[in-house]
Amino acid sequence: MEIYIGIDVGSTTSKAVIINEEEILTYSIIRNSYDLAESGKRAFDIALRNIELPGMKISYIVSTGYGRRAIKFQNKAEPEIICHAKGTIKLVPTCRTIIDIGGQDSKIMEIDEKGYVKKFHMNDKCAAGTGRYLDKLAKDVFQVEVEDLGRISLKSEDPLVISAQCTVFAESEIISYLSQGKPIEDIVAGLHNALARRVIDMGRSAFIKFERDIVFSGGVAKNIGMVKAMERLLGGSVVVPREPQITAALGAALIAKEKSKDRDK
Ligand code: ADP
Repeated sequence: MEIYIGIDVGSTTSKAVIINEEEILTYSIIRNSYDLAESGKRAFDIALRNIELPGMKISYIVSTGYGRRAIKFQNKAEPEIICHAKGTIKLVPTCRTIIDIGGQDSKIMEIDEKGYVKKFHMNDKCAAGTGRYLDKLAKDVFQVEVEDLGRISLKSEDPLVISAQCTVFAESEIISYLSQGKPIEDIVAGLHNALARRVIDMGRSAFIKFERDIVFSGGVAKNIGMVKAMERLLGGSVVVPREPQITAALGAALIAKEKSKDRDK
């Protein structure tokens, strides 16, 4: 059986997706070490080990993401915006807007019905619109796992306002709320609102129309509090794929399939 592999070497995690002609066979998601080449290879090895079917033949490998050129065993490296669009439209054919929040950047893309990117905007300059910001506050300030922030914030009935735009000032604002004895759920819910607003405002300033369906992807889309904050601010539901962290790796695998067919023509 011919298989096609997409590897997304992100800033924080690496993901590998293996597909055949019809379906996703398996995938892996790992946290990166400081060595992106090692991380990408490890994600690839884990995904391959998951299947190990007899007679399996790797036909083509496409890498993407921030560290897409760190690994050297791919047939081709593709830009992540194209891979995100390709993977997302496959999972959600009605998608016209993608909001992706990863470890070190956030991106908003407008796509057409074929998954071609019409417009995109990316923020990789400011930490306030990224997963790393939530990771740091969870660990250093709230002393909980980042995976727990969503559940905590759902208990809030009265989210606090976090007005500072900059992470350093927002952190002082949060610490001041904690020292005033404000409930943690109201602070975390306020934090989610502030982060979601920042990402949406970034898109609006780049004239993104937020046409529906809106798909929220990236590791931060696993935070239910962030999903709710996005829905409140956008005034309607957003779609989160079952595994929102692998959309770019899936797109890379789909491109790998196309490239392999072109090569064999
Ligand atoms: P990148 O592609 O830039 O490496 P990802 O899309 O993998 O980033 O997102 C990584 C971020 O996702 C982490 O920094 C973390 O904040 C967040 N994240 C990952 N898993 C979860 C989870 N289960 N719950 C909440 N947040 C999560």
